[in-house]
Amino acid sequence: MSPLIIIGSGLAGFSLAREWRKLDSTTPLRIFTSDDGGFYSKPMLSNAIAGGKSAAQLAMKTAQQMALELNAEINSHTEISAIHPERHCITVNGQEVTYSRLVLAQGADPIRPPMQGDSADDLLSVNNLDDYARFRAALEGNKRVAILGGGLIGCEFANDLLAGGFSVDVIDPGTHPLAALLPVEASLKLQDALGQQGVNWHFGVKAEAVERAGDALRLTLSDDSSLDADVVLSAIGLRSRTALAAAAGITVKRGIVVDDQLKTSAPDVFAIGDCAEAQGKVLLYIMPLMQQARTLAKVLAGTEAELIYPVMPVVIKTPACPITVCPPALGAEGEWKVESTPLGVRALFFDSTEQLLGFALTEQATAEKTTLAQQLVQS
Ligand SMILES: Cc1cc2nc3c(=O)[nH]c(=O)nc-3n(C[C@H](O)[C@H](O)[C@H](O)COP(=O)(O)OP(=O)(O)OC[C@H]3O[C@@H](n4cnc5c(N)ncnc54)[C@H](O)[C@@H]3O)c2cc1C
Repeated sequence: MSPLIIIGSGLAGFSLAREWRKLDSTTPLRIFTSDDGGFYSKPMLSNAIAGGKSAAQLAMKTAQQMALELNAEINSHTEISAIHPERHCITVNGQEVTYSRLVLAQGADPIRPPMQGDSADDLLSVNNLDDYARFRAALEGNKRVAILGGGLIGCEFANDLLAGGFSVDVIDPGTHPLAALLPVEASLKLQDALGQQGVNWHFGVKAEAVERAGDALRLTLSDDSSLDADVVLSAIGLRSRTALAAAAGITVKRGIVVDDQLKTSAPDVFAIGDCAEAQGKVLLYIMPLMQQARTLAKVLAGTEAELIYPVMPVVIKTPACPITVCPPALGAEGEWKVESTPLGVRALFFDSTEQLLGFALTEQATAEKTTLAQQLVQS
């Protein structure tokens, strides 16, 4: 019997395998991954420096343990170079391997900013355990970190590095941190809290060049100012990995397009996680991929199922100013009503009929997240 093949051993690939094994314990399962095939929780990567955690300490299970747990064959450090939907096979190290069904759980790539200068290649980003190990090694014996991007990942790393005793500069072309997710009052709370702990913010500018200057990396910013750092972390965003699917003629837009059964445009090929675009959205978070994995497991097991997202608040791991946000859908019409309470900022997004479409809470006001989530009207 041809196996179910999953490409990717991130949280999407492994969550699907776990959910599917609850429903089908015998059909052969093969997982191909360019990683080492072990299990780790990616959200921990932006919260581990202060605690002095090594990459090995963050690895929760080896590939062998996962293979045993899932009754699967895991092919580590194996890059898939092509998919042939018409023949139901993939190319693995020049050989063709047949599947009954194929699941693409390939994740997303960090976006590389355009950068001049002789040290442009020294820019680091952290999107898996190996990246984290490289980042941690680069920090060894150093003190100054410049972060490109004041979004979710940039802010989480800024907080973690401060707590770990590093000096931190954050460079962002916008006017506030997390501007894409939060109303300005909540952004400012975070900006103040991290600023008070020592973050040097550089808003309204981009880094354009990075050169070696003695022991330091010198960044030239778009206003012609410069700053020196020992390590530069790029956190300007992620882009779904769609190239393999696109080359196979599978429909891709911002991600690999799937329907409510997680099916792509090719027969017996499915996609989930950071690489997938479901219901017109690429959601680069854990809760959506868990929901996708549960739905797809049922579909693969032959049960009727349909992707329905529950309310999915995002918790931002910035202990200097804890935040929970449930952003309104992109393009939703309405406005933020913001209160600054003694407990923190409480921002609610209402439409013209006073229906609650989103919220953002800071500090102790985050305690209200469950109550508000229950009131939320999903669009
Ligand atoms: C630092 C950081 C902190 C985060 N914090 C949070 C958080 O607090 N809360 C939250 O909800 N989300 C958070 N996220 C987002 C969340 O972690 C991701 O949405 C999720 O882990 C994505 O899982 P994935 O399996 O889709 O992708 P990945 O984990 O990227 O896995 C993709 C897999 O595909 C494999 N692969 C790709 N192409 C090929 C190929 N051609 N051949 C073989 N293998 C291939 C890769 O090797 C990898 O194993 C964070 C992300 C980062 C980077």
